[in-house]
Amino acid sequence: MNPMSRVLVVEDEFTMRNTLKDCLEGEGYRVLTAADGETALKRVLEDKPDLILLDVMLPKLDGYTVCNEIRRLANPTPVIMLTAKGQVSDRVDGLDAGADDYLVKPFSLEELLARIRALLRRIHQQSNAPRALSLDDVHVDFIRQQAWRLDQPLHLPPKEIAMLRMLAESLGHPVSRDRFLDVVWGYATFPTTRTVDTHVATLRAKIEPDPDNPRWIKTVHGVGYKLDLSSTPSSPRREES
Ligand code: CA
Repeated sequence: MNPMSRVLVVEDEFTMRNTLKDCLEGEGYRVLTAADGETALKRVLEDKPDLILLDVMLPKLDGYTVCNEIRRLANPTPVIMLTAKGQVSDRVDGLDAGADDYLVKPFSLEELLARIRALLRRIHQQSNAPRALSLDDVHVDFIRQQAWRLDQPLHLPPKEIAMLRMLAESLGHPVSRDRFLDVVWGYATFPTTRTVDTHVATLRAKIEPDPDNPRWIKTVHGVGYKLDLSSTPSSPRREES
């Protein structure tokens, strides 16, 4: 996660605003502030922060209105609402207005920082998520969950597509067997790490030109597997075809 992420703190109470600012700056974030709803909107549009901490009770425009307006403008900046009361209706109003998360005052700064980290991580992963992967004549569409070799459908079950997707997300970096098990198999079943190896072997047999000498899905000894695209797509072999 980028520690230089910019957070807009929208809070009309001076002490609270400064406490949040100091805390976030102490964690390496860059902080912008606004003390009312109108200024908040202006800051969002002009300064494009990475995340917004938005108090609900604000002068000029309240937090719900600000959040609604941000979303109406199709601005996807993540918003954490800071509500004074913990009533369900406040929470629902906040989420209805397009907030991604909410915290009830008083909250601990530790909790706030954890929520910010989680939200930024989620946004980062979404924006990095590959939609498709092409390996020579094999094409995998992660959105439609389908694969083709040339123009022929290639049968890849959901687990194999999910594994490829994880490899593509971590392009060039290893994905551990445990991580595959957590994400693809979940906690409900009890497969062993051998299960991962078996599925990788099946996947290689389907997509690798020479499964015994994998070109793309490389074994990282003692760790797991990684996707290596360094031999594609501009390799001489490809240009000849
Ligand atoms: Ca307030």
